[in-house]
Amino acid sequence: RAQAKLDYLKGLNDEQREAVLTTEGPLLVLAGAGTGKTRVLTTRIAHILTERKARGSEILSVTFTNKAAREMKERIGKLVGSTVEGMPWLGTFHSIGARILRRHAELADLKSDFTILDTDDQIRLIKQLLDAENIDEKRWPARQFANMLDTWKNRGLLPKDVSPADSGSFANGRGTRLYADYQARLKVLNAADFGDLLLENIRIFREYPDVLAHYHRQFKYMLVDEYQDSNVAQYLWLRLLAQGKPASEANICVVGDDDQSIYGWRGAEVDNILRFEKDFPGAKVIKLERNYRSTSNILKAASTLIANNESRLGKTLQTDVGETGEKLTVTSVWDSEEEARQIGEEIEQYQRQGESLNSMAILVRASHQMRELEERFITLGLNYRVIGGPRFYERKEIRDAIAYLRVIANPADSLSFERIVNVPKRGLGDSTVQLLHNTARAANTNLVSATRMLLETEELKPKQRTTLRELLAQFDDWSARLQGLPHYELAEQVLDESGYTAMWQADKSPDSPGRLENLKELVRSMEEFETLGGFLEHISLVMDRDTVEAEDAVTIMTLHSAKGLEYDTVFLPGWEEGLFPSQRSMDELGRAGLEEERRLAYVGITRGKKRVRLSMAQNRRIRGLWQSALPSRFIDELPPEVVDVKDTGSGYGGYTYGGGAAGRFNFADPFESVYNTPGWQRAKAQQSSRKGGGPLTIEGELVARSVDIGSDRSPYETGQR
Ligand code: ATP
Ligand code: MG
Repeated sequence: RAQAKLDYLKGLNDEQREAVLTTEGPLLVLAGAGTGKTRVLTTRIAHILTERKARGSEILSVTFTNKAAREMKERIGKLVGSTVEGMPWLGTFHSIGARILRRHAELADLKSDFTILDTDDQIRLIKQLLDAENIDEKRWPARQFANMLDTWKNRGLLPKDVSPADSGSFANGRGTRLYADYQARLKVLNAADFGDLLLENIRIFREYPDVLAHYHRQFKYMLVDEYQDSNVAQYLWLRLLAQGKPASEANICVVGDDDQSIYGWRGAEVDNILRFEKDFPGAKVIKLERNYRSTSNILKAASTLIANNESRLGKTLQTDVGETGEKLTVTSVWDSEEEARQIGEEIEQYQRQGESLNSMAILVRASHQMRELEERFITLGLNYRVIGGPRFYERKEIRDAIAYLRVIANPADSLSFERIVNVPKRGLGDSTVQLLHNTARAANTNLVSATRMLLETEELKPKQRTTLRELLAQFDDWSARLQGLPHYELAEQVLDESGYTAMWQADKSPDSPGRLENLKELVRSMEEFETLGGFLEHISLVMDRDTVEAEDAVTIMTLHSAKGLEYDTVFLPGWEEGLFPSQRSMDELGRAGLEEERRLAYVGITRGKKRVRLSMAQNRRIRGLWQSALPSRFIDELPPEVVDVKDTGSGYGGYTYGGGAAGRFNFADPFESVYNTPGWQRAKAQQSSRKGGGPLTIEGELVARSVDIGSDRSPYETGQR
């Protein structure tokens, strides 16, 4: 058979092969963790390319992270060698959205070099808006408004789609107008926030059919990984792109696992999976049931745990690893410090047995759990990398350096300009910055232009006028030099000539050498990119999961960012009630929140190939207060026959699991403890007195971004399809 020649098909089972070979028409691959969904997608692309069904640029493939996109690119390169004509459009929703938006920036009142704002910039911008409107930020926090924006944008709603009632009581009903002002302000700054990357695509596709038609002709095949976590905006975007053909003929393949839907809190709609067969009639559905990743003990633990969820599509999962493997362990320790010590010791022990640090990961529920682990590893001299925590690109010195580079690339980027205008100190105080702001606002322009205007007037004091004139001249000079100089060399010069490097050299605090080191690392990392624009794009998009890769290092990350990954050994610390499942999540969403937490636990366990080590601390310090902790109910839900329970017996007799994990803790009604908390009851009371979605606050504190995501006015019902 001709197919037998195709090497890449050899390693697949029958169902996987079918999923790869069914290239025409809509296809849904619905399958549990580790069944090869991602592998199917990669192989499918290889197949389309080798069979010459399409050129690289005619394939659109959406991955969950940029890292996944890079890995996929590498694998495809290996599978099909040099025959690839043009690489597929491979990336996250955001990165592909950004690429499209840059091409049509003028249709969104932007220039193609627009800046992508991160949360920090976004909050600063909102603060300015609130300030200009005399809205009391203590009463109506910028962060709360940012959450509202997020919810709207995740649902694909433009300012015109949001009625004043939708913004609830925020700033006494002014939320909707603020949304419009915020968008207008972004245009002036030549900037887009993350939500815009897709929202503006959607708007352009709807308003300019010829643009959409172009992409219909271009993308012959579409593939989406981790489909269970797509939100409404992503869904609408995909639907628009798939509309080039009748729905029943669209070449769209989505893969997902309803049990791994863990972004509901960000507006993901697991219903998208259920809806797929309706939207694309005649879609083929393929289920994969063989797990190639984990030992049978690990799979059994994960399957038994997730069976406690009610809302499931239901799937079977069998191991193909052919090994029972080690039992899972649950270790009960005194506190989180001891937990970190334990984990450190175990890692060293495995290392002595010849296992690599790269094969081990620690997955935490909350990022505050990371610090103690990091400190311990530093003490031990253990290499580690943190992914998704306090990130390299979020460090102050890195953000400052990037701000300089952003202003060079896009002088309209006022937020970046503001960030560094007085860093290092140049004697430009708040009042000067305020004057710049007022001028910019009055002239409806950006800070740099406003500064130029001010320099022509008498409004600035002589000293400040000189300083600002020199600063702008420097920026002009740097921009000019960018033509003749590699951008990383320019970056070094900028840091030196601006006095920024000198500022940290003069700083005597213990962390300044590290900061200087980070700046060097930043410049080094720029060498990988051809242009400054390319580098800045990378920064905006890639921050979420990338750190500087050490050679061999243990990975520390949140459970949320571990999706799709696998490690021989997985440590899961902090399995305590309140921390995991998170109290907040249960308070906000009740049973749905608990089920999402359980899916997160399922994701965590199924990352492990050979070994899964859980732990719980009997005492934990949360925001400075010691609290004694109860074991997570998820521990109780694990099948005792595959779990070994250990107590380090340090001091306190608290919770020993004499008889095994199961049965030791009895939650007669697992929800009783949730419903009876005062927070929950107050939230309930407020919720029933409100109509529609939107954020929920209790006594001024935001407790829920959106209480009834999707159940109120979703765009599906408002004729936006
Ligand atoms: P997740 O739901 O966690 O994203 P997944 O369904 O995407 O998992 P993959 O990551 O594609 O699963 O595959 C899991 C592991 O099993 C990988 O190491 C992959 O290489 C391996 N694998 C997949 N299919 C096969 C197969 N037919 N034979 C051998 N190994 C396989
Ligand atoms: Mg996967």
